[in-house]
Amino acid sequence: MGMLSERPLSFDLHCHLDLYPNPLEAFQEAEKNRIFTITVTTTPKAWPQNRLWAQGLQYVHPALGLHPQLVASRASELGLFFTYLPEARFIGEVGLDRSEAYKSSYDVQYRVFDEILKGCQRIGGKILTIHSLQAVNDVLTLLDRNLRHSNCVRILHWFTGTPSEAKKAVELGCFFSFNSKMLKTDKGKTLLELLPNDRLLLETDGPFVKVGGKPAHPMDTVQIISEMAKYKQLSPERMQEILIANLLRIL
Ligand code: MN
Repeated sequence: MGMLSERPLSFDLHCHLDLYPNPLEAFQEAEKNRIFTITVTTTPKAWPQNRLWAQGLQYVHPALGLHPQLVASRASELGLFFTYLPEARFIGEVGLDRSEAYKSSYDVQYRVFDEILKGCQRIGGKILTIHSLQAVNDVLTLLDRNLRHSNCVRILHWFTGTPSEAKKAVELGCFFSFNSKMLKTDKGKTLLELLPNDRLLLETDGPFVKVGGKPAHPMDTVQIISEMAKYKQLSPERMQEILIANLLRIL
């Protein structure tokens, strides 16, 4: 991989460190703890500052994003997204959201996400963290159409689809990142049980997900590994080994 000098302790492939009160401190804490972190952004305008915060860090990497929930007001930044796309290896948060509050912008979201995937396909080698709330079927259709013959890695973040949608996503080569909130629901536990071990990854989705009343931090993924181990009937050490191997395989 050539990117890390020491094996990471854990990893968080979807958190929003730029939304913490002190982002630079949050970046440096993840680095110090050797938690490999993809810190997603919600608008292309955030990219330059996030790159600066990550400068010189091995374990913390910003992702270029255009959040589907912001597309209604930020679709005009799509041009800026393509300006930065060649220099971004990690892409997110991107995707579709058809929940009540965002469905009025769904047609625009669909066009924007389609364009983003086409851009990723053209350049290749991207790692994407994807939002699919109440829109799993369309997300999978667009991934299949645009990235089927691509080497881009597709990670479904906080997946809430049905078991049959999950199976379809597995067939399309998708990975799934789990957070602590998912493991508190029957749906999340069922998903974890049905997925093959080699598709499992980790996330916190902090600061939106809270742990003990406080915004989740990348370090909290260590606890998620133990919980996942329980449901997969593995030792925490074995679970950690499987998850880190999955991380190293996609990097
Ligand atoms: Mn998020």
